[in-house]
Amino acid sequence: MESYPNAQATKAIIEQLVKIPSPTGYTTEAISFVENYLRQLGVETKRNRKGGLIATVKGENDNKHRFLTAHVDTLGAMVKEVKDNGRLKIQRIGGFPFNYIEGEYCTIHMSNNNSISGTILMHQTAVHVYHKSSSLERSEDNIEIRIDAEVHNANDTRALGIEVGDFISFEPRVEITDNGFIKSRHLDDKASVGILLQVIKQIEAENIKLPHTTHFLFSNNEEIGYGGNSNITPETVEYLAVDMGAIGDGQLTDEYTVSICVKDSSGPYHYGLRNHLVKIAKQHDISYKLDIYPYYQSDASAAIQSGNDIIHGLIGPGIDASHAFERTHESSLIHTEKLIYHYIQTKIIDI
Ligand SMILES: [Zn+2]
Repeated sequence: MESYPNAQATKAIIEQLVKIPSPTGYTTEAISFVENYLRQLGVETKRNRKGGLIATVKGENDNKHRFLTAHVDTLGAMVKEVKDNGRLKIQRIGGFPFNYIEGEYCTIHMSNNNSISGTILMHQTAVHVYHKSSSLERSEDNIEIRIDAEVHNANDTRALGIEVGDFISFEPRVEITDNGFIKSRHLDDKASVGILLQVIKQIEAENIKLPHTTHFLFSNNEEIGYGGNSNITPETVEYLAVDMGAIGDGQLTDEYTVSICVKDSSGPYHYGLRNHLVKIAKQHDISYKLDIYPYYQSDASAAIQSGNDIIHGLIGPGIDASHAFERTHESSLIHTEKLIYHYIQTKIIDI
């Protein structure tokens, strides 16, 4: 058997995932991809009404469950108005400043199931025409989408089938370098979705009987705050969100280790679970960093805030320049994958 975790395999599935457009609210294709992947492994899955997917692996103990989640939804936008000049005014889905998408290629997904490409630009981009472009605010009023079609006015654009409410996805521009980096939009949180799929594949391949029944929720509303707050079985004791680690000044999280979040904007994560994860990391030579994410909430916070009586935690690969031109290294992916692989084979901490 090939060595596990396998960085090439994990990067390959992440590459496939980031290429599937899935702004929050438009995640059916990404969920279907995950569903098909799990079906091929023979893993039982169920869709929830919100459009997420739950895979359940029965364990020895079916009275106390474990719950892990990663989200397939990403940042994106929606057509707000068809402008008089035939271009599109947009509203953002998820949290990011407009300059993170300025100049980016995008796809408009029309309700008739067709799609058309475009570019996100400042209205006042042409340097030969507009004098103060660099100092103008990157705002909903100034940012527009130039559609790749001959349109001169709103009627021309509408004739293509474009309307208010159409979803817009951003070109991921994924690139994998020879020295182990993966650069792409939407590594948050498709890197973790890929990792969870690899872990499930491995436990199936090795025929591992998990100590506890374990649910894997592929949530689809995390970027707007309520992805993983439902479908938590009454038997669930531990809830672990697998989502990006935040990198920046003052942060310990990096692109080469697994980040274990001790606290974010929602407050501290469960102390006992955090210590349990650290113990596993030490036992298995997994490089980790404990860290605080100053402006962050996860599906685990959403689950707690919805009133679930659970032990909650958050871990994930370190993602540089989050919500913009993201990057991580395969080392971070591998340490995260190893930690999850060993964690789900331990006993729940309150036993
Ligand atoms: Zn995320």
